[in-house]
This record gives sequence, structure tokens and C-alpha cells, in this order.
Amino acid sequence: MKTEIFWVDENSIDILSRASQLIKDGSLVAIPTETVYGLGANALDKNACLSVFKAKGRPADNPLIVHVSSPEEAEKISFTCPLYYELANRFMPGPLTIILPKRDNVPREATGGLDTVAIRCPSHPVARKLIELSGVPIAAPSANSSGKPSPTTAMHVFDDMNGKIPMILDGGECDVGVESTVITIKDNSIILLRPGKVTLEDLKTVCKDSQIAGAVKEELKAGEKPLSPGMKYKHYAPKAELYLIDDKYIDFVEFTKQKQKTENCAVMCYDEEISQLENKNLLPVGKREDIKMQTHNLFILLRRADDLGVDTVYAHLPQDEGESLAIYNRMIRACSHRVLGGINGKG
Ligand code: AMP
Ligand code: MG
Repeated sequence: MKTEIFWVDENSIDILSRASQLIKDGSLVAIPTETVYGLGANALDKNACLSVFKAKGRPADNPLIVHVSSPEEAEKISFTCPLYYELANRFMPGPLTIILPKRDNVPREATGGLDTVAIRCPSHPVARKLIELSGVPIAAPSANSSGKPSPTTAMHVFDDMNGKIPMILDGGECDVGVESTVITIKDNSIILLRPGKVTLEDLKTVCKDSQIAGAVKEELKAGEKPLSPGMKYKHYAPKAELYLIDDKYIDFVEFTKQKQKTENCAVMCYDEEISQLENKNLLPVGKREDIKMQTHNLFILLRRADDLGVDTVYAHLPQDEGESLAIYNRMIRACSHRVLGGINGKG
């Protein structure tokens, strides 16, 4: 299959109409969103959903997020509740996914066999226009091959999906850079299953009774059933071995400077550290305090590390709270919990 890439904005009606026709016909289209690129399919068409799993090589029990053009559209495919609308008023459209009981019209192929469906209303104008033109909710997981870092540019998508899908809509670099915050509602309380731009503190402004699921920070225990199937899969892994350095216990610059002399390694350093390190395979993540930039750069740099062909990658252990929790969660899984230094130290 030939994969075509088109540069678009929300006014590219000819191309977006072609894309919506593909969706209606059961094909796949990669779409830009404010978080990462999504691999879109008609969420109500079970064969289209199955094609998504096939193109990504995604385990069949890892459900897809379904994208709607307005919070109210969720009524057609799920059973909402007052807390859903309180959250929607504050965070939709935007990078928040809410899990709700599903209606019968949503195929189990989309939900990994579950009775619930994950709902998101994206803010990216291209994604919104495409859902509108398609006239159906769009199931869209991140448009990477399963296990690779999520794509934040159309070229990342092309690297993984060339020959597997007919069309990629290029809307430029994604703003946020990591996937949406995923939550579930239980008896008027919230459990955060995957951290993203919408933080625990943000959620608490709407619902005081909000907490983080254990598996967000810790490894699942043997035999433990995850609240979200995605928690049990290794994610976001670069080809090289990634190590996180707890810089409360290890001098990051001294340590990585030594490694640069002896190993074929890359170093994900803060901008302030560039001048102190050897100018070889450096992957600056942004300024130490600039969490927004570090989040935006995260997957771009993990993919660049692959392109460098290094054996090892060293990075700072991120803070595990606030906006930084989203980076922590991705990095800790990308490195399979290999942390050097401190009480977490496994190296
Ligand atoms: P991705 O689409 O690649 O961003 O991943 C979607 C994430 O949402 C995965 O971690 C899924 O396990 C999670 N998810 C989607 N639907 C559900 C659901 N019904 N229940 C629990 N987790 C879900
Ligand atoms: Mg994904």
C-alpha cells in the first residue's frame, strides 16, 4: 500500500474530506492531535478497529481511545454521569480521557473485550474537523508500532506506518508531546490510570477525591491485574538500554562524562549541562525547570537516540509529581525501572 502524507490545517477541506471518506470506508488515517499522532479508524466498525491492532502490532486486549467532536457526543456510545460533565466543562476539549461504561454499538474489538470505553474530545482543530466530517467517533491509539515511543511528528508516523496505511495528515509537531491523561470514575471519585498534561492537582480542583493508581509509579506485582490493560505492557522503549540517574545521589555530569569516554552512549541532559559535557551524542531535553519543554521533547529524543545507534542512554530520573509525573511514568517504563543511585537504585 502506498502511504501518502498531506500537510493540512483545519481549512484543508479537500484533503480532510478524502480522509473522512477513508474513515467511513473502514480505512485508517493518521491524525495530528495536541498530545501525539493518532492512528484513526471508525470506532463503530469492528473490522476497522481490528486493522488498527494489526497495523500497530498491538495486543488485542489493549483497548483503543475513542475520540468524539464534543463532550455530548459521548452519550451516543457510553453512559455518562454528572462528574463526567463537570470534568468535561473544565478539561474538554483537551488532553483528558475518561473511561465510562460502553453502549452496545461500540464493538468489543475497540475496547479490548471490556464493558467500558475510553472517551476523549481532542482540541486539535484538524482532529476535530476530521471527526466532524466523518460523522462517526474515531478510535485512535498512538500511531506508533506497539512498543515504540509515540509519534509526535508526521515523519515519526511514516517511519512506523509506511506501507501499512493509506494516509497521514501532517499537522506539524504535536504541542504536548505525551499521550492524554487517562482516568476512571468510581462512585464519584477519580482514579488516575495514566498521567498526562492534566495533572492530579488539576483533577482535584473538580473532584477532591482523586488518587493515582499504584501502577503509575510502581511496577505491577506478579499476578496483579492492572486497572488499565496498557499498564502491563512495556512501552516507549528505545533500542538502546536506557538508565535513569537519580541526581540526588549521583553527580550526573561527572558520571555521564566518564561514560562518554568508555561507552557508545547518548546523554539526555538539561540545557544547563551541555557546556560541561563532551559534545558527543548529547540529547538536551530543555532547561531543568522547564517541564513543558521536557515533555514536548521526550519522545522526539527517545527516537533520536535510536537513530544515533548508541548502546546505552543516560537520563535524569524525573520528579514523580505534578506535570513531571507524565515524564516519570514514560521514562520509568522506557528503562524497565533501571534507576541508578538512591533507594530506587537497581544498577
Ligand atoms: P494509547 O491509545 O496508545 O494512547 O493507549 C490508550 C491507553 O488507554 C492504554 O493504556 C489503555 O489500556 C487505556 N484504556 C483505553 N480504554 C480503556 C478502558 N476501557 N479501560 C481501561 N483502560 C483503557
Ligand atoms: Mg500508545
